Amino acid sequence: MAEATDQANDKQVVTISDMITVGDLADKVGVPVPKLIGELMKNGIMATVNQKIDFETAQIIVEELGLEVELHKQEVVDPLETRKTRELSKTAAERPPIIAVMGHVDHGKTSLLDAIRGSGVAEGEAGGITQHISAYQIEHNKRKLTFLDTPGHEAFAALREHGAKLTDVAVIVVAADDGIKPQTEEAIKFAAKAGVKIVVALNKIDKEGADVNRVKQQLADQGLQAEDWGGDTITVEVSAKTKKGINTLLDMILLLTDVEELKAEVDGDAEGLIIEAHMEQGRGPVATVLVEHGHLKQGQVIVAGNSYAKIRTLQDYKGDMLKEAGPSTPATLTGFKTIPRFGDVFSVVSDEKTAKKRLQSVDRRNSGKDLAMSSSDLLKMINKNRTTQEVSVIVKADVQGSLKSVIDSLNSLTIEELAVRVVGSGVGNISESDVTMAASSGAIIYGFGVEVPVNVKQLAAREEVTIRVYNIIYELIDDAKELLSSMLSPEIVETEIGKLIIKGIFRTTKEAIICGGEVTKGKAVPKVLARVIRAKEQIAEVVVESVKRQQQEAKEVLEGEMCGLQLKTDKKILLEEGDRLEFFTREEVARTL
Ligand code: GDP
Repeated sequence: MAEATDQANDKQVVTISDMITVGDLADKVGVPVPKLIGELMKNGIMATVNQKIDFETAQIIVEELGLEVELHKQEVVDPLETRKTRELSKTAAERPPIIAVMGHVDHGKTSLLDAIRGSGVAEGEAGGITQHISAYQIEHNKRKLTFLDTPGHEAFAALREHGAKLTDVAVIVVAADDGIKPQTEEAIKFAAKAGVKIVVALNKIDKEGADVNRVKQQLADQGLQAEDWGGDTITVEVSAKTKKGINTLLDMILLLTDVEELKAEVDGDAEGLIIEAHMEQGRGPVATVLVEHGHLKQGQVIVAGNSYAKIRTLQDYKGDMLKEAGPSTPATLTGFKTIPRFGDVFSVVSDEKTAKKRLQSVDRRNSGKDLAMSSSDLLKMINKNRTTQEVSVIVKADVQGSLKSVIDSLNSLTIEELAVRVVGSGVGNISESDVTMAASSGAIIYGFGVEVPVNVKQLAAREEVTIRVYNIIYELIDDAKELLSSMLSPEIVETEIGKLIIKGIFRTTKEAIICGGEVTKGKAVPKVLARVIRAKEQIAEVVVESVKRQQQEAKEVLEGEMCGLQLKTDKKILLEEGDRLEFFTREEVARTL
């Protein structure tokens, strides 16, 4: 990866990627390797010259060495971010729109997708779709539309975000009897952020209590003014149950698409994205891809992330064999050697030899990461040297798409002082080796849609490893949130009680002061803290042991009254007449994420 240095302020700016070998870092910041290794050792990290350390560790070490160097992290360009800005050639042709259906749980996303599929697929065929596939294509008015039916699409922020990135049009489903809910708002935000066109489907209009105008008002509050309210947001009244409005919805999607003039390259090698991948008995890794440009053909070799495939079979969403798949076409293929990851970009290469070579270079780039992940001891040591507390987790999920989503969601819980670190992840049931790894790295295991065999449960009990399995992603995330909240250091809350001006000092020892004064605001009470202020500056903090009114212990002395005070200090303070005390309490309040 390219790395650069330049001069800024007085410090030299050195840009490194998020993992760097000890040797490379020494070279970049201009210190001898043994010195760097020595500094790492001082911090409890045993690393050799070829071992990689992460950016944060590098930063700590560089700081501790007192170098005039500022480390900058190299920004990683997200291929999904750039896909829409590509310049097209003259031969680029119109392509079908890619549509995602989003919205609050139970507002009818699944039903609507089913209704759309039913309307666009010829009688008889609809029943024939047996396998779950994360995208499908329908025909409406002799034109094709591609719908994403992403796994776990029920209620889940990270996936919705990815969905939005892949998408040209977002259909935001709002149940007209329920109105806009938090997940609707989130979906609107994601779509807006991704620059995706929005069509609002006002669903369940067959239901009693459906109130379309109320939803339009709520939409307006979100900045989406419906067309018939003078705005430019297309809204369509539908019922996934009675199928009313489905055709209009499809018409509207196509109308929006026409304005956009969606195009793709038709010639040349295919490229696109992996949108789902899992292991199937007898077939090996099975991946669903969405072709963005070119035509993908059976028999070709493709590379995606750190996996490659010689395409053995290529099928459409109905399971029919395809010879090739063109732009915006979802296709399921077999032939991958390992399971690719959700969101990986794929490209065609000439042969398997080239594919392997390409993977090696990807591997080299990632090897530091793998090392850090597998070497739990190193991890633990690095953790110790951070001010950030970390929670290690291992994530197992049923399919690649939900795995990625769970990991993204867990990562998004990270706040300044508390981070979730995924030390291991994979598709499939929780295994004994997951438990062993969790035990050695102090991680907890989160499973999504997977099972825990009895022997694994027993091992986990013996090793005191926590396993939590969920079928609903947001329950998993809520649980993780709760766990993190319990680890958050409490918030310190200070409450002001009153102020006093010192009028006399009677006795001062190393640890105590007996003095008197007049309460100028609020009240003076015993067993609280006080800031000592002189010339508007705080000079000390003391504990108020007791408060007396005319030699009598008092529970409180109010504004305008005189009182005597016994203060406890941890070092000798010479109070002066005219100093002020500010009484306050300091409490720890548990925080939540
Ligand atoms: P999702 O969680 O958004 O995918 O919602 P579902 O499609 O699972 O729908 C939630 C519930 O609403 C189910 O019981 C559906 O039968 C029901 N439902 C969905 N669309 C309609 C509709 O148009 N009319 C009525 N009456 N019920 C609907």
